[in-house]
Amino acid sequence: MGQQQDGTGGVFVLAGPSGVGKGTLVQALLQRVPGLFVSVSATTRSPRPGEVDGIHYHFVTDAQFDALVASDGLLEWARYAGTRYGTPRQGVLDAVARGRTAILEIEVQGARQVRSSLPGAVLVFIAPPSFEALRERLVARNTETPDRLEARLAVAREEMAAQGEFDHVVVNDRLDRAVEELVDLISPNDAAEKHPASFGCAGSADDSAKV
Ligand code: 5GP
Repeated sequence: MGQQQDGTGGVFVLAGPSGVGKGTLVQALLQRVPGLFVSVSATTRSPRPGEVDGIHYHFVTDAQFDALVASDGLLEWARYAGTRYGTPRQGVLDAVARGRTAILEIEVQGARQVRSSLPGAVLVFIAPPSFEALRERLVARNTETPDRLEARLAVAREEMAAQGEFDHVVVNDRLDRAVEELVDLISPNDAAEKHPASFGCAGSADDSAKV
């Protein structure tokens, strides 16, 4: 899947609307799949309470972001709800060169850019069970003013219309099930151990007959 034939690592993009739970999924994946590299994005938005510079994001000024763009330091970047977000290029390329799988948690415009610059990347759309459920989650998260919340929901509608462009769609209705689907996509070897028959290996003759 995200792993290349030559033994270098792969790139997995997790995109989907704000509030869908991408961050929680990534944290759960880190517990399940050893050696993942999770890219830390640069952003011009202000930190929320509890967010730490260098861990959740690299919080940068507009001028610093301009400099990153000018020096081609970003693998992709996008404007989202009035601020800018981008993936530092070198960290991802180094991780992949060392054979690690890099996870990018980004929005849809950025996912499209990754598709054209790294055609081997696997693009996964994380969808909410319904638009109403997404609204409820964003309201419950309580990180946005009412105006900003509506702006995010408007972007979310557009993003959900783009899910057909992705290699896979994972519905985040139950966290454990969604994580399991992602583990199967990211780490097919683990999946092969769990479901040997469906991978045509290590199964009994009876199993292989079911493939
Ligand atoms: P938030 O402000 O809620 O942290 O993020 C807003 C949106 O920006 C989310 O959909 C998030 O996935 C996306 N995002 C975060 N980092 C990046 C990035 O480096 N590039 C792009 N294109 N989007 C990002």
